[in-house]
Amino acid sequence: MKTKISALHIPHNKNTASMNAVAISAPAEVLLPMNMHGGAPAVPVVAVGDYVRVGQMIAKEEGRNSVPVHATISGTVTAVEEMKISGATTTVIRIAGDGKMEKDPTLAPKNPENLDEFLTILRDSGIVGLGGAAFPLWAKLDAARKNHIKTVLVNGAECEPYITSDHRTMVENADLVVRGVQILKKFLDSEEFVIGIEDNKPDAIAKLKELFKDMPYVNVKPLKAVYPQGAKQVLLYNAAGLVAKEGQRLASLGVIIINVTTLAKMALYLDTGMPLVDKIVTVDGAAIAEPKNLIVPIGTPIQNLVDECGGLKGDVGKIIIGGPMMGKTTDSLESPVIKACNALLVFDEASSKALEPSACIHCGRCVEACPLNLNPTAYSKAMEIEDEELRYQILTEENVSMCMACGCCAYVCPAHKPLVTTNNQAKSFVRKMKAAKEPKKEGAK
Ligand code: SF4
Ligand code: SF4
Repeated sequence: MKTKISALHIPHNKNTASMNAVAISAPAEVLLPMNMHGGAPAVPVVAVGDYVRVGQMIAKEEGRNSVPVHATISGTVTAVEEMKISGATTTVIRIAGDGKMEKDPTLAPKNPENLDEFLTILRDSGIVGLGGAAFPLWAKLDAARKNHIKTVLVNGAECEPYITSDHRTMVENADLVVRGVQILKKFLDSEEFVIGIEDNKPDAIAKLKELFKDMPYVNVKPLKAVYPQGAKQVLLYNAAGLVAKEGQRLASLGVIIINVTTLAKMALYLDTGMPLVDKIVTVDGAAIAEPKNLIVPIGTPIQNLVDECGGLKGDVGKIIIGGPMMGKTTDSLESPVIKACNALLVFDEASSKALEPSACIHCGRCVEACPLNLNPTAYSKAMEIEDEELRYQILTEENVSMCMACGCCAYVCPAHKPLVTTNNQAKSFVRKMKAAKEPKKEGAK
């Protein structure tokens, strides 16, 4: 790791930063995929014809690292079916809404007395990391408990262009951020909490500084507004001065990182019993008529979000779920908002044109731009080697598994090489080779 981490000054385009999040009207239908989290997909416990209410569990967790799924609108289950979403086939529960948004009457505040109870309760919340990873929160905290967590890093950086959903959470739900810190302080007994926020959110910084002024263990830390300030390794270094080696778990350094909206949702769940059923989603991009921050029931088709924003203007060139640097493209406005979705960006054709890649000119800009000092050109070259063992050796030596797909290398490449795609292919190749080698190691013992 470099002692000074590279970062890009890219246009922020935080057009919705000052816009309060507004709740959309109750959708006529939601589609709830069972694979919205890391770990095994949840298993439906409802059948066609069942009436469900907001917050009611409709699918239970399956094995470790899995979490349940809850109804996000009230209405009737119309299908439990297989469906292809973003290229992967998964089971989906469809609910036809009755427009009432009736809450499950059994929901009640939670009062865990110790860490075991807290984690068991938290699992039922369906909460996952909302910064993009979607790893179940309870499992992250459970894995970390073997170590004393001295420092909790709360990620409020939100460095991706356009996205302002965490920003609005910090401004509009600051009380929940405070409650989240108090809850984790009680159960993890951590010595310090560092809330890292990019300095392009002065209102959020001021509000949280004021609310935490009597809690000396909380440091609301402004960070430079550069990309990718919110990436795990970058935040760890810039907010806590620490470096994790390849494969090293943060907990072994006495640290965990929690996204600020995840923390707020956790507090809401303990204080009201309402599991993860909705999200603030930033809707923006050149093809969106009126960009907004919307409060959206999970499972709402993204077409509804477009409609709430005055529809589209011009031709649609690219639809991105998430930010322009790390988000995923989709070709269907019928795709549902999933738990990890914090933005919907729609661009017109003119601003979506991919530039033709040309030959590498060996300028080294990709290496200079990489926050982790990785060498994307080495990955591209290695992926052309036919000998798989040699390819594996080079990619491993060049630490390809560290690549966090932040896109800085591709952004600066004058030859417009699809470096992130190649890096991802290289990571996938290394994972498969490692998995193939593991049984051999065991057998050799
Ligand atoms: S995508 Fe990977 S190689 Fe490229 S800059 Fe980001 S971390 Fe470095
Ligand atoms: S930035 Fe692009 S052109 Fe320059 S060395 Fe890297 S891959 Fe080659």
